[in-house]
Amino acid sequence: MNIRMVSTGTQLLECLRNDSYDCVVADFHLPDFRASELVEQAAEYLTATPVVIVSTCRDQAPVIDSFRSGVVDFVPKDKALEGDTLWRSIEHAICESQRRKAERREQDRRERHLAQLAESDQLTGLFNRRYFQRCIEEGVWANDRRKTASIIMLDIDHFKRVNDTYGHHAGDDVLCQTADFILTQVEGSDTVIRWGGEEFLIVRMSSPLVESIVWAERLRRLIEHRGVRSKGELINVTVSAGIYECHADGLGIEAVDVADSALYLAKDRGRNQVCSSLMVQMRDFVQQVSTDSSLAPSGRLERLIQRITPSLGTTQLEHLTDHAEQVATMACEIARVLHLPVEVQEQIHVAGLLHDIGKCMIPESVLAKPSRLTLVERAVVSRHAEFGAEIATMLGFDPLVVRMVREHHMRHDATVPQADGENGHAHIGSRVLCASDALVTMMTCRTYQTPKPLVNALRELRTERGRQFDPEVVDAAHFIESLFSLAA
Ligand code: GH3
Ligand code: MG
Ligand code: MG
Repeated sequence: MNIRMVSTGTQLLECLRNDSYDCVVADFHLPDFRASELVEQAAEYLTATPVVIVSTCRDQAPVIDSFRSGVVDFVPKDKALEGDTLWRSIEHAICESQRRKAERREQDRRERHLAQLAESDQLTGLFNRRYFQRCIEEGVWANDRRKTASIIMLDIDHFKRVNDTYGHHAGDDVLCQTADFILTQVEGSDTVIRWGGEEFLIVRMSSPLVESIVWAERLRRLIEHRGVRSKGELINVTVSAGIYECHADGLGIEAVDVADSALYLAKDRGRNQVCSSLMVQMRDFVQQVSTDSSLAPSGRLERLIQRITPSLGTTQLEHLTDHAEQVATMACEIARVLHLPVEVQEQIHVAGLLHDIGKCMIPESVLAKPSRLTLVERAVVSRHAEFGAEIATMLGFDPLVVRMVREHHMRHDATVPQADGENGHAHIGSRVLCASDALVTMMTCRTYQTPKPLVNALRELRTERGRQFDPEVVDAAHFIESLFSLAA
């Protein structure tokens, strides 16, 4: 036992400020304080320390004052010294105080548990919307040092059909297993919330748009390929996702709405895909321009590029302007050498100007990345052909031009299902564009390469003759070598 003796109220206050004690025993009349005043002054240090007063006072008033101030026992001095009276009073005070402490701990634990229950989803065990709300109100994310965050809204596709086909229990299995799987894919600082029925919100701190697109694209593919097992049945599951990048202190319900609009776009484009808020923004621009019936498609394209230029990065802009013009010129020359009909030559020229328009929907940082792209990054970039075809359609371009844009990255030795149900090669115009695009790109300075002279670019084209590139197109490109000033 450790006993500290002091002789004044001031010294006692000093002790309480600096250390914790199991019990305080004090006279009612201290030289500088009355014990009741002292207990009131030291209230913040005495929350868990009982005070027992020993006094010679015979009046009622000190006893009442003491108990009112929070003293737990008042022992007359003559009684205190009889047998173990004082000792029993101290022991009792300490026991009571410890019992109250234990009760408070249990109460806190129960309250924490209830708060946790109130903020988690019963079925999946994930956090629920209330948790998100509290994080926003308390600024949990706003104070994060890592400034950039991404919000991903992910929704199971045609989930109603799962319930209708396999039953509600199987539907629950799909929800739980999808939730568990998402948890295996996130990092410690990410938060996964069951936002609604089959909607999950993922908050990723320190994750810029491209990184989150790549992450979500990978997650989407994994979910698609693994399926969910429920009562012996393998259920195919696909998801759509919408992504919005924002500043950590901009995380809130408005940011969720933006991610939701990107999810809506993913659903609208056919589901089982990831869309970003950048795509929503660009699609809005395309829609605005497309409604102008006074303009021809090429006029709309020009207007669109003017409109979106302030939102584009340097690389995006270069792809849509100088690069597009060079590809259009090169493709036209090759088409002429191939004696393609003049009408097709014109369409190839238009498709050349348009072929990379879909890059306005691909984040600048991945287009300008100086190092080698990962597989998933490459898949993200390759979507520009499909986005481009969509934009071309919205702007009102001819279906053949749209097809050339869609196929301008297609390998010569690959086939794709055509509208008539046949598997076919790319159109000759697309094959011309493909080789022209490669040639111009090789001859252009990029963050990841120094420009090659035409002769070297042509040599490289030849190595893929009959594989990536149409042999006739490669031969035609060689034929026009001398005509090109682009090499300079
Ligand atoms: P979409 O691809 O457009 O998202 O279509 P969907 O069928 O997934 O979406 P819809 O909103 O039409 O249907 C969602 C369904 O999810 C309807 C609802 O009954 C079901 N659902 C919501 N919560 C639960 C749940 O906790 N368990 C089960 N089994 N089903 C749920
Ligand atoms: Mg759904
Ligand atoms: Mg839904």
